[in-house]
Amino acid sequence: MIILLNKHIPQSSFEKIIDKLQNFDYEVINSTVQKIIFINSEIDTYPDHIFSAMPGVEKIIRTKIRLPKILKDSKSAVEIKNYHNLSIPHDLKPTIIAGPCAIESEEQIVNLALKLKSLGVNFLRGGAFKPRTSPYDFQGLGITGLKYIKTASVKTNLPIVSEIMSTQQLELGYDYIDIFQVGARNMYNYELLKELGRQKKPVLLKRSFSATIDEFLQSAEYLYANGNNNVILCERGIRSFETQTRNTLDLNCVAYLKNNFKLPVIVDPSHGTGLSSLVKPMSQAAIACGADGLIIEVHETPQSSVSDSNQAINISQLEEIISIVNTIYSVIHAERIGNNSVMNTTSQTVTIK
Ligand code: PEP
Ligand code: MN
Repeated sequence: MIILLNKHIPQSSFEKIIDKLQNFDYEVINSTVQKIIFINSEIDTYPDHIFSAMPGVEKIIRTKIRLPKILKDSKSAVEIKNYHNLSIPHDLKPTIIAGPCAIESEEQIVNLALKLKSLGVNFLRGGAFKPRTSPYDFQGLGITGLKYIKTASVKTNLPIVSEIMSTQQLELGYDYIDIFQVGARNMYNYELLKELGRQKKPVLLKRSFSATIDEFLQSAEYLYANGNNNVILCERGIRSFETQTRNTLDLNCVAYLKNNFKLPVIVDPSHGTGLSSLVKPMSQAAIACGADGLIIEVHETPQSSVSDSNQAINISQLEEIISIVNTIYSVIHAERIGNNSVMNTTSQTVTIK
């Protein structure tokens, strides 16, 4: 860290700054234009304001980017307790989380879950607490919805991924939900993140539509700093000037995260595009650029879905996507999973429907 001081800093102010530096290794450089303090010690977690608010300080310059600690200590796979052998990422296939935008009835979620299970889906999603833009839109079935999805989970042995928006909902949903989803609108809800950090269940943290990658990672850091490193990041599209699609799915972010860090990354092509016709191509692209899995909105009759009907796909569309992304994943990760037979066959053909 470099502290640039005012050229005419009074001696008394200078001494106060030096007082604060007693435990650090530092050098004072007296140039003709400026007095500069260069701090050699590790000062990563020291907040800027400790110095920047002191009289005579002009500017603080960080010589090293302050990376969230979760990036150093993150797990390459997050295990799901109570489900033996289940983790994200899991074995040789991409993780598939699928289900309706909202839980609508017990019959809907149970019937759908049975079909999803037969396709090889790994996790069941379904919102009970829905963050809707309009307060007059369907807000979700709440705890009743969680009871319905639990019934579906018990019948299929599929763990539940469901969103909570408040610390109160965290408590209400604790016995039902296996992976807590933090939605795009709550990525900045630091009180919720702190509370989720204090419990041990994994968290699927969605990127806000207005968040930079750094802000996204700092939100993950809130979970970590409070004791939970079971974090799965989810790219779900950001706002851009484009209006033909609901969001702009930022696959740069996925490749960037996978290239630089170990944290599991899931992509949501449903909210990322807002259009059912784009879910398949963007699922393919997401797995091709390194995502560990997908979270997809599925409905038996998408047109009658009570929320997000434009982006919901049906069972047979999901079946097709799973088959394609399994192939892409095995090619992309062939080296890691030692699946050389796939690599060998790719020189001839890989059938991507
Ligand atoms: C959802 O997954 O149902 C949802 C509301 O997503 P997002 O927070 O990404 O908008
Ligand atoms: Mn939705």
